Order: sequence, then structure tokens, then C-alpha cells
Amino acid sequence: MVRLESRERPDLAAIKEATERIIHMLRVSKDNCIYIMSAENKPVLYIDPGTEVIFETWDALHGQIASADGGIDSLNWNRVNPATGPVYINGAQEGDILSVRIEKIDVADTGIVLCGSDMGVMGDKLKGTAIKIVPINNDTAVFSDNISIPLNKMIGVIGVAPKGDAIPCGAPDLHGGNMDCKEICESATLLLPVNVPGALLAMGDLHAVMADGEIGVTGVEVAGEVTVIVDVIKNKTLPLPMLINDDYVMTLASDADLDIAVEMAVVNMVEYLSAECGFSKNDAVMLTSLVADVRICQVVDPKKTVRVEFPRIYLQ
Ligand code: CA
Repeated sequence: MVRLESRERPDLAAIKEATERIIHMLRVSKDNCIYIMSAENKPVLYIDPGTEVIFETWDALHGQIASADGGIDSLNWNRVNPATGPVYINGAQEGDILSVRIEKIDVADTGIVLCGSDMGVMGDKLKGTAIKIVPINNDTAVFSDNISIPLNKMIGVIGVAPKGDAIPCGAPDLHGGNMDCKEICESATLLLPVNVPGALLAMGDLHAVMADGEIGVTGVEVAGEVTVIVDVIKNKTLPLPMLINDDYVMTLASDADLDIAVEMAVVNMVEYLSAECGFSKNDAVMLTSLVADVRICQVVDPKKTVRVEFPRIYLQ
């Protein structure tokens, strides 16, 4: 406590600034979670564009697995893939773009990885379920006594209310959702469509480590919290979802058929380069063919997700 001298006046500017900082540093508890992304979901928080928000998140299994011994027979699948939210962004209207800048991802000190029958690429060749509890320390995931993996912390599920019917949080689509893209990480900005008033942003399913493909059906699934700055872009049309980091601009597309997902992501990139960067369509195709990698985010969710990574160095 500081005793004010009789003539000392409180620094009103400093108090105002501190108050504004508190107001703009908002936190959404993971008690507020949804299992479908829908226009019908009731917002748990209303924010102005430009606000910094912390989302506390469950792991993808809603914390139901505490040990490697129990298996998944007792798992309540209705509680899998929770996303924290939704948050209503004041002024966001259908046709706007929602910009989500990922400032920080903090993860818990233990994660889970699993594989087994009917799950992932190898699901028809495995019996039963294997679960591994993965300690996380010193920015590594401890897979075994001999193998520690540097973290690549990322957000698996992040999206807005879709246009039309509700979509389970476990599925990716045009609204975002369970894209399981390892580039949705710190310092990246995800651009999503606004389909309903307020957008209704939600996120969850953090991974401490995951490789492209997520072939086993999980990354290192982990609880944690994400700090984002959310903004609204008006009067602009882009082929969404898109992701931007310091080095790349990326288009993301999801479809049950991997070939179609590749085509969608490529078409979107060519469209972006033509419409926004001044390239002819032929030049956009040739340049994409030369410098942009087509990568597989995941092949294990209801739709598979692909991204095209175009180096920003060619967009100067
Ligand atoms: Ca996921």
C-alpha cells in the first residue's frame, strides 16, 4: 500500500491505462466449452475488435484420461474435442474477416498420445488401444527415456460458427474447426470467415507436439491456455481460411477426399495471388508450382486438411 502525501495526487493517466489493460486482458474459462460450432451457441464473452483474450482449454479428451492403464472403454465420446467459447466480437458481421493473432500458447506439464484399432491411418492393423502419458518439461515432450522431442505447440481446433448447419468441433471445414495444422502456432495470424453476427470464436485441442499428417490420430494432446488478439477486417474478400506468419502466406482447405482438399487449397492460393498480389493467373500457377509447398496438415479427421505455403519473400 502507498500512502498518498497530502499534496500528492493520484496519477489518473496511469490508473486509466492500468484499468484499460485489465479490461482488455480478458480470460475465458474452460468451464465454458462447446462440442459443436453453431450460430445457436450462446456467447460466453463479448469483446471489441483489437482485444487480447486468453482462452483456457481442455485437452481433446476433456481430461478424461489420467493414466496409461485405463484404456478408452470408459471414454465418453460426447465430451471429446471441446472448444472453449464462443466469444462474440462486437461489430463483426457476415462477410467480414476475423483475424486471430496467436500471441502465446502455454501447455500443461503432461500430455497424452494414443493409437489403436479403428483410429488413424494404421487403425485396421492395430489391436486394442495404447496410451502414453507424456511429461512435458524444459520445452520438450518426453516420449521415452531416450527420446525427448522439442515442442511445437499448436492449436488443433479453432473456428467460428459455420454458415448453415452446426458442425462438430471434431471436424474441419470452411469455418476452421479441427484443422490440426501445426502452423497454427505462436506468432501466426489465422484469418477466418465471419458467417454470423459476432463470429462466435472458439478454440481448444492444443498439441504440445505434432507432425504433419497426425497419422496415429493424436498429437501430444494437452490442456493449456492461448493468448490471442482478435480483430475484424471489413470490406475485404479472401479465400478463407488463410494463415500468415513471418515467412509464409498459407491457404487451408479440408475435404473427405485428400485430392479435392489439395485442389481447393491450390485454387485458393492462385486466386489470392491473382486477386491480391497482381499476378496473372498463369504466373500465379507457375510461381506456386516453383516455390509453394503443398503440405498435409492431417489425414485422420472427418475431413482431411491441406495447406499451401507460399513464401512471402516473393510478394515484396
Ligand atoms: Ca485435433
